[in-house]
Amino acid sequence: DPVLELRQVSKLYRTGGHPFVAVRQVDLAVAAGEIVGIGGPSGAGKSTLLRMLAAIEPPDRGEVWLAGEAAWRRVGGGLRRRVPRPGYVMAVFQDPPGSLDPYWPVWRSVTEPLIALGPRLSRHDRRNLARDWLARVGLAQVDPRAMPAQLSVGQCQRVALARALIAQPAAIVADEPTSALDVTSGAGIIRLLREAAMGGTAIVVVSHDQRMLDVLADRVTRLVDGRLTDPRS
Ligand code: ADP
Ligand code: ADP
Repeated sequence: DPVLELRQVSKLYRTGGHPFVAVRQVDLAVAAGEIVGIGGPSGAGKSTLLRMLAAIEPPDRGEVWLAGEAAWRRVGGGLRRRVPRPGYVMAVFQDPPGSLDPYWPVWRSVTEPLIALGPRLSRHDRRNLARDWLARVGLAQVDPRAMPAQLSVGQCQRVALARALIAQPAAIVADEPTSALDVTSGAGIIRLLREAAMGGTAIVVVSHDQRMLDVLADRVTRLVDGRLTDPRS
């Protein structure tokens, strides 16, 4: 089974009166260890697609499948989210607070996914572990006790990436993971994502930066007006 799968997924937003179709009948399957890049212009629906892949937001039509199971179940009048295990899919978003809890010090955000999987670690161990991971994402100079508001957008994004990588999740979805970074830092992030994929993590990266996607991904597709098109020829 694919790690992440969208089947004929559509998303509508109702702002004002007219429903606006942000994502249209998208099919996508991502296997373990695979890196899929999704390009496309601003407003194409990339972030919306990513939120559905991470089962943060349900589709209006179609289905999201994680490890061969439906991610959303009808319960009474509503939908219930169901992931195969805690931290199965980790999301790294672009905007501040960049998928970080604003009231948590950095060390806590970075190590929390690991705690959810079982290990009981002292605060001291968590700070040290966080320090290691911060160094890996190029933030050796950041104090693990810092709060997100004390960091730049690019730093927050790298903290979120460390958080995503730490528990070796089945999947990582990332929104413009290199956009706020200089070339050297961007290359470091690409290397870390490739390492995670080699360890079996399925990865989806959305970006308007086609060149970065060509370097990073095994397979690059494009989203235009909510529709997934074939790779650029
Ligand atoms: P991209 O990430 O490619 O820039 P988005 O997924 O952010 O695209 O947005 C796609 C379209 O859906 C845009 O027109 C945007 O304004 C609209 N949209 C996104 N999120 C919402 C929302 N929560 N409510 C209403 N419209 C939204
Ligand atoms: P779940 O996704 O398993 O339902 P919740 O969303 O209820 O978990 O979050 C559990 C705790 O983790 C909350 O205290 C919340 O503030 C924190 N949290 C959630 N998402 C993040 C994140 N991306 N970064 C840091 N902390 C988070």
